[in-house]
Amino acid sequence: MWLLALASLVFLWFASLIAYFPRKPAFLISGENANKSNALLVIAHPDDESMFFSPTISFLTSRGHNLHILCLSVGDADGKGNIRKEELYQACVTFKVPRQQVKVMDHPDLQDGFGNKWNHNLLSKIIEEEVLARGINVVITFDDYGVSGHCNHRDVHFGVRTFLQETAQRDIEAWELVSTNILRKYSGPVDFWISMLFALLSPTGSAHCLMNENPRRSFIAMSQHSSQWVWFRKLFVSFSSYTYVNTLRSIDRLEQVQRKGNDQEL
Ligand SMILES: [Zn+2]
Repeated sequence: MWLLALASLVFLWFASLIAYFPRKPAFLISGENANKSNALLVIAHPDDESMFFSPTISFLTSRGHNLHILCLSVGDADGKGNIRKEELYQACVTFKVPRQQVKVMDHPDLQDGFGNKWNHNLLSKIIEEEVLARGINVVITFDDYGVSGHCNHRDVHFGVRTFLQETAQRDIEAWELVSTNILRKYSGPVDFWISMLFALLSPTGSAHCLMNENPRRSFIAMSQHSSQWVWFRKLFVSFSSYTYVNTLRSIDRLEQVQRKGNDQEL
């Protein structure tokens, strides 16, 4: 009985891996003659990109979009900030993101840690500077739960929101990584089915399910974070659905939909 259940799970795991390859999401469609996006991924710590956003990074780089990464701390909670900063650059080599397109902040008011509250206006200012300096037209970040509920991840989300509310730049698309429940979080590629359904049931164009076409690369990228590459993170990267699939939801459109819903209720 247990053997049958295990065999079914293994079958589902591999069927999920195979099923997503032919799919081509319409996220940031760009034909031969269309302009490629200049995207900015905003994260809190070195390793967030490899642990949570690798399907998004692979999608963008494999389709020729220009990806920049803004990491808002060096991840110095254990005093390894300088090492972790270098590890991020190494991971970005794996993802084929040039070093000059990766910026790591080490601001006294933005230090890694559970108890450290990050000021949203300060974050907004830093993000705006980066957007203007790099000519960014797409911003991608955590949602308001931040995958793990880490307060730094959540503050980064609200920093991006503050930036979107205050900036004079109106032509910026913003996307958040949808946090899933714990069952989905550890279901590996099997989560593809639920993520696809979520994207299909969302208002047109407001959510996209991006599959990782090269999960092995995510594993290699994460292994560049040597100081973090301990057994439980190896397990996490193997079983985490974020290694295989990212669901991105439009921040602006969601607000519009919510506002519309509220108006209808009144
Ligand atoms: Zn983090």
